[in-house]
Amino acid sequence: MNEFFSAVLAAGGSSTRMGGGRSKVLGQLGGRPVLAWSLETLLSSEFIREVCLVCREAEMDEISRLAAELSARRGRGQTLIFAPAGEDRQASVWNGVTALKRDSDYILIHDGARPLLSRETLEAVCRDALEYGAATAAVASKDTCKLADSAGFVESTPDRSRLFQVQTPQAFRRELYLYAAEKARARGLSYTDDCQLVEAAGARVRLTQGDYANLKITTRSDMLCARALVEQEKGENAMRIGSGYDVHKLAEGRELVLGGERIPFEKGLLGHSDADVLAHAVMDALLGAAALGDIGHLFPDNDSRYQGADSLKLLSEVCRAVGEAGYAVGNIDATLMAQRPKLAPHIPRMRENIARACGIDVGRVSVKATTEEGLGFTGREEGMAAQAVCLLREKA
Ligand code: MG
Repeated sequence: MNEFFSAVLAAGGSSTRMGGGRSKVLGQLGGRPVLAWSLETLLSSEFIREVCLVCREAEMDEISRLAAELSARRGRGQTLIFAPAGEDRQASVWNGVTALKRDSDYILIHDGARPLLSRETLEAVCRDALEYGAATAAVASKDTCKLADSAGFVESTPDRSRLFQVQTPQAFRRELYLYAAEKARARGLSYTDDCQLVEAAGARVRLTQGDYANLKITTRSDMLCARALVEQEKGENAMRIGSGYDVHKLAEGRELVLGGERIPFEKGLLGHSDADVLAHAVMDALLGAAALGDIGHLFPDNDSRYQGADSLKLLSEVCRAVGEAGYAVGNIDATLMAQRPKLAPHIPRMRENIARACGIDVGRVSVKATTEEGLGFTGREEGMAAQAVCLLREKA
């Protein structure tokens, strides 16, 4: 018994309710085809070992190119298969199921027109199928539903608390599905939903908590909703926050360098580099926001190349690394903690230095200074501390 799933992605439906023409799964959503979204989710899951895309003959070349490209970038080595769409949904899924090549004990069926499938929902359905033999994603009905008579009048009102809207994915033990599908074919019955097949064969189907965002794109207004959801998610993911903190000891005979400014003072900060505590806190904030580690990792203090290093040059290197990781600096806000000397007159130059090193406008860099009222190590003038936060924006 293996616990892998072979997936059938139904991508050959007609688009009559979207105005006909090309398949709705090839419509654009957030800069790529609708189909690419759920295919990527399937390919990202360890549960899925092969995917069969069921598509119209006329669109097979386009869809196979798209799938091969996505699989190379995001896949985990799954087998990709293509099968032609049938006359109705059940026939299409059957074409897909019978084209599968791997000997997975479970099959999973998903509608290519549900792009916003999350990996959480996908894997929750897989886990329930492993436990119960059959499972479908479903959400509680938010609206009261009516059963109508043939004349268009209300016949009855089912209890809403027991009503669920069924989505895909739906997953089944392969043998169970094949048995149920054969039975329906023998009787000439066609269902719009694969659970119904399995229910008709007398099996129990588990309702797995789905996601309201996992909507099916059937009408133009569904497409508008999906676009709004994608845009919102993009906006939320587009920003990254980072924080940095650093401390250096004050010592005689050292030059005091803060934010790249040499500041006349009887002591300076001790360190392997120029010990620019402000620049160091800023670097750690930037690295933290991009999840690239910290400056100790990037510029080890036992590396002689960084002996007496100009921290602003290191800051430029950090910004280059952050840029290569796909981010641009939004803004930086830093606070220096020092009892003496008075730092206010030097702040405008510090901001300019940091902005130049980061290649951003000075309006995006804030530096503040405070004493700690004679308290603690900064108050006793044993050292200085700095903290910084920054926002990074995902580059388009
Ligand atoms: Mg440091």
